[in-house]
Amino acid sequence: MPLAPGVTFLEPNVPVHVLDSGVAGPTAVFQAGIHGDEIAGVHALAELLEEGALTPARGRVLVCPVMNAAAYRARQRAAPGGLDLNRQFPGDADAPERERRLARRFMDLMEDERPALVVTLHESWKRFHPDVPVSFGQTVVYGVEPRPPVVDRVVAAMNEELATPYEVWAPHHFPVATSSTEVIVDAIGCVGLCIETWMGFDEARRVAMHKRVVGLLARDIGVIDAA
Ligand SMILES: [Zn+2]
Repeated sequence: MPLAPGVTFLEPNVPVHVLDSGVAGPTAVFQAGIHGDEIAGVHALAELLEEGALTPARGRVLVCPVMNAAAYRARQRAAPGGLDLNRQFPGDADAPERERRLARRFMDLMEDERPALVVTLHESWKRFHPDVPVSFGQTVVYGVEPRPPVVDRVVAAMNEELATPYEVWAPHHFPVATSSTEVIVDAIGCVGLCIETWMGFDEARRVAMHKRVVGLLARDIGVIDAA
């Protein structure tokens, strides 16, 4: 059953904000901080919540600003002594490891909500280059072919607003079998994307870019009218 509007907790310190328009429409999910050293998305979602910018005109918006709170506090990819949360999906409710249990709770939420769009905000130490396999900044990453058409629309919109030519955005196909987005896409057939900014840019600029991408995606799926 879908969650009631308000805030619910996947863990005592992992809130999910449920914004419900009361009008029929799609559900969009935005999540950040699954890797604790990738902070721009965390702050972008916090600011968007504070500004009311994701209050839906139709449908529902779910926002999980800090998916791995312990990793975020440590500013590490994983919590000290913990697992990479984004490699634990679909997770296991009875696992001894916290990350595998949390992954399962998030999967249960996705299976209840059946979102049309799931977006995870990340950052990368390496700027994207097609010849460098594990480079991501700045890309819209999809793991399941064919490429969702929204990827090209968002990349084109971001490339119209570059503060410097080095900010250029690209689509990037990079499947990761146990990642949140790919497992969720396989399970429920939604569009699942990872947004990656390059950590070489100033934090404020990275936050602004994440906010812009989230707004463009929310408008594209139809939950808000203006990004
Ligand atoms: Zn990441």
